[in-house]
Amino acid sequence: MKNHLSDRINSMSTSATLAMAAKARELKSEGKDIIGLSLGEPDFNIPEFIKEAAKEAIDQNYSSYSPVDGYADLKEAIANKFKRDNGLTYGLSQIVVSTGAKQSLANVAMVMLNDGDEVILPAPYWVSYSDIVKLAGGVPVEVPTSIDTDFKMTPEQLEKAITPKTKMMWFSSPCNPSGSVYSREELEGLAAVLRNHPDIFVVSDEIYEHINFKGSHVSIANIDGMYDRTVTVNGVSKAFAMTGWRIGYIGGPEWIARACNKFQGQITSGANAIAQRATIAAINAPVSSIKYMIDEFHKRRDLVLELLGEIEGFNLNVPEGAFYVFPDISSFFGKTINGTEINNASDFSLYLLENANVATVTGEAFGNKNCIRISYAASEKELREAIARIKAVL
Ligand code: PMP
Ligand code: GLU
Repeated sequence: MKNHLSDRINSMSTSATLAMAAKARELKSEGKDIIGLSLGEPDFNIPEFIKEAAKEAIDQNYSSYSPVDGYADLKEAIANKFKRDNGLTYGLSQIVVSTGAKQSLANVAMVMLNDGDEVILPAPYWVSYSDIVKLAGGVPVEVPTSIDTDFKMTPEQLEKAITPKTKMMWFSSPCNPSGSVYSREELEGLAAVLRNHPDIFVVSDEIYEHINFKGSHVSIANIDGMYDRTVTVNGVSKAFAMTGWRIGYIGGPEWIARACNKFQGQITSGANAIAQRATIAAINAPVSSIKYMIDEFHKRRDLVLELLGEIEGFNLNVPEGAFYVFPDISSFFGKTINGTEINNASDFSLYLLENANVATVTGEAFGNKNCIRISYAASEKELREAIARIKAVL
């Protein structure tokens, strides 16, 4: 049958994180004892005070359309948060609330990119960046990094990647999938390059801001000369374990926020009203109210590094944030394990799924062919069991 779907969707890849999670769910429902370490999703319950705020919002009949860019008092809370945590001053007209940070990113791509505009993506990058950029007509330009530089792009690499077509650079810190955190000095190095190229904009995805074991998150918008050309993306999915509530937001130049508002008004309208009301409670709470989750992730990171470090062939960096490890497993390439030939990270990840019943994600989905991503947003018991199984089948 003729393919009636658009070229746009035909050329898009399926989200590898969501695909792996779906596969793990399917195998589980068939009775297989799968441990899912593929999805980046906190395994904590939402803090009670956030649930209470949502219940109150239902009782108060928050059941109509909200303003497209979010309730004013939510945007006020976000503005205060940007000031409190990031030293950034954004007026309400510079903030847009969306259905998850994923939509925030898609909005920015759709309103900023023309066909052929290049977007620099330090690789590894979060799985959806390249497809969102392509959907908007942009051309992802991957800048490969490796474990030797803690998976961070250097100013020299950035300079080299810039062409007359470069429109933007997108990155996350703490980084999904590597867990790397850019220091102020490192961001200053990148900003120094960008100062010579005044027409390049930055998307700074800070959704893992609070899951930072180094303790010092720096927003690139806070670096000299960057405020007017940076869109700061954040959301409540990770820090507040609210993945299913679907609230993300941006702070940025007013003209970009206005364009995102216009675009969102034709595509989805305002984000879910009850979730927005609950987000006010989340964002107004002191960061200390979620410290127990951060401490737990920190403990698990140390455990996972220790246990994976005992497996020969795993080359690990020390992730300073988020809840992933991104081991380089290229030492297994070209080998045959229990009759299975391992030639790339996808073979390796599939081998673990089929033989150890452990779901991970291939690094290829994040623009890195040598690594796999393991999410440690799982219980200590599951992590111990999963890594023991991995060790056994290798
Ligand atoms: N950016 C990064 C780096 C992420 O890991 C995620 C996780 N889904 C998102 C954006 C999107 O988050 P949200 O749930 O708010 O859409
Ligand atoms: N950000 C998470 C991850 O990377 C959630 C999945 C997704 O939204 O793609 O696994």
